[in-house]
Amino acid sequence: MVEYIDGQQTLSMMRHVAHHVIAHVDMLTDADREIGDGDHGVGMRRAFEAALEALKDHEGSSPAEVFKASGMAIMSTAGGASGALFGTLFRGGAKALEQSTTMDAQGFAAFLAAAQDAIEKRGGAKPGQKTMIDALAPAAEAVKNGTGGTLCSVMADAAAAAKHGVEATRNMLATTGKARSLGERSLGHVDPGALSVSLILEAMANTLREDTIER
Ligand code: ADP
Ligand code: MG
Repeated sequence: MVEYIDGQQTLSMMRHVAHHVIAHVDMLTDADREIGDGDHGVGMRRAFEAALEALKDHEGSSPAEVFKASGMAIMSTAGGASGALFGTLFRGGAKALEQSTTMDAQGFAAFLAAAQDAIEKRGGAKPGQKTMIDALAPAAEAVKNGTGGTLCSVMADAAAAAKHGVEATRNMLATTGKARSLGERSLGHVDPGALSVSLILEAMANTLREDTIER
């Protein structure tokens, strides 16, 4: 069981995350066609291709540096409301890890909490408004303080909570973003941004569980 990861391992994990998101572009496009304008998949692909490019020559000095570089690349390339917000997820999360050369369960919990906080500040949305926050907030809550186990197990807990969070967005009324104009017609559909958060956490958890991380 993996207890913590260093910068190099975070680099490897982020590459898996990028490939995982890119592999699910069609799913994200379909979700955004239901309640948005259909550009979320393409935006996320552009964002994570840019992250891969930025990480190509990255030395992976620390988890914070890797997340920060990913977030900056995402922020400057992805269009739409979510480009800035997914960039904020990684940049905001990185701030919680700045003092450390590794990330353990507690560090990951701090990363999620800081990411949520930064997204709420930037976008002005709160939990329950049918956004990416509704996948991130339950994940952050599930791993709060990192007392629940190893990095590997808390990442799995976070991914599972995010997945539940995505399903819960079906019953939420969108009161922010493009879906807001749909009113009750947004009911029954999951939020595309929440789906992306769930994919990101799923890829993180899988990387550690399957021990595909380079050492
Ligand atoms: P756009 O809405 O500009 O077309 P995308 O389609 O790429 O951008 O992303 C839509 C997603 O962005 C939504 O599903 C939602 O999760 C997220 N989102 C939009 N506005 C906000 C906000 N203010 N706070 C948090 N997330 C938001
Ligand atoms: Mg859209």
